[in-house]
Formats: sequence, structure tokens, C-alpha cells
Amino acid sequence: MSNSDVDKCPKQPLPEYAFIGRSNVGKSSLINMLTSRKSLAKTSGRPGKTQLINHFLINSNWFLVDLPGYGYARVSKSSKKIFQKFITNYFEQRQQLVCAFVLIDIRHKPQPIDLEFMQYLGEKEIPFSIIFTKADKLKPKAIQRHVEDYCNNLLQYWEELPLHFITSSSKTIGREEILQFIGDTNEEIEAMRNNV
Ligand code: GDP
Repeated sequence: MSNSDVDKCPKQPLPEYAFIGRSNVGKSSLINMLTSRKSLAKTSGRPGKTQLINHFLINSNWFLVDLPGYGYARVSKSSKKIFQKFITNYFEQRQQLVCAFVLIDIRHKPQPIDLEFMQYLGEKEIPFSIIFTKADKLKPKAIQRHVEDYCNNLLQYWEELPLHFITSSSKTIGREEILQFIGDTNEEIEAMRNNV
């Protein structure tokens, strides 16, 4: 299901996981890798890329949510206007959201727009994890160094580091770890529901 109105998102009370990041970070490729589909999510090269909230039902028990990429939108620190309103509505109103995955190109130094977005999630108390993308573009030692530098930078703003995953869609790296995390989290949610 695709739309730009949080009230029209699927009504099923299933846990959902949102994927978001700067345009071109590799989000569509990652979603296609996770779901083992060639073109479930549209990749950047394609014309008519939509700016919508896209819900994909996975194994009938959770939703993968593909959100529009940011980076072209103007960011104003004072107003904290990172996205169009429908995206902030999604984050602030969607009860089913379990975790936002913030995608970061592993090659790049921390960018203000990403840090500001994580800050926004923190302020709204929305759990998030980081997914580093395009790890195949770096050698193993450089991967380690870049991730360490990134985490050290985050520690200037955060007391605790979010969980992070290292991925490559072209080399299928990190797929099992992310799916395992989602599967384990879904089981915990299910167990909590059954105990109530
Ligand atoms: P999106 O705009 O965030 O959805 O990004 P895309 O998935 O469309 O990818 C943007 C560009 O990065 C495309 O040219 C992809 O082929 C490339 N890309 C995406 N993931 C990877 C990856 O894991 N490794 C490499 N080397 N290139 C990637």
C-alpha cells in the first residue's frame, strides 16, 4: 500500500520497521536485498520515483515501510522542518512503528542532515538503528575505521549508541543480521502481548 496520509496506512496492528535516509544512500537496493526481490522498491535511476509511504507486508507478520529519501528538501534547524508534514505525521502518530532504520553511506563522514534527523527521532523518543550501506566500497580495515569514527562522533551527542548494521546490497552483506534482529524483536513483542 502506498500513500501520503498516515491515517490511510494499513490498519493491521502488525509491527513495522521504517527505512529512511538521504537520497541515493542505497535504500531501494537494501530493501530489494532484504526481501530478495529485484525491484520491490524503486531504485534511483528510475523515473517517476514516488514520494510516498510504501508499506510492504512481509510473511504476513510485519510491515517493511519504505519512506521517501531526504536530502533534497531544505532543512531549517530552527523550525526542525526536515520533511514534508506527512513524514513527521507518520513518525509522530504511527503506533505500530517499532524501529526506524536510518541509512548511512559508510564512506561518508557524519552529515548534519543525518545527525539532525537522528536528533529529531531522539526528541520524539522513536527507537532507531543505523544501517551503514555500500560496505563493498571499502576494504575491511577502512570499514572498521569509518564505523568507529562515526560512532565516536555520535557519542558527542548521545549517551548510548544505537544498534548498527554493516551492509552491502551488491555483495549481500548484513541481510541475515537485520532479518534476525527484526525476527527477534517481533517475537519479543508477541511474547509481551501474550503476557498481558
Ligand atoms: P536510494 O535512492 O537510497 O533508493 O538508492 P538506490 O538503492 O537507488 O542506490 C543508489 C545508487 O547506489 C545506485 O547507483 C546503486 O546501484 C548504488 N548502490 C546501492 N547499494 C549499493 C551497494 O551496496 N554497493 C554499491 N557498490 N553500490 C550500491
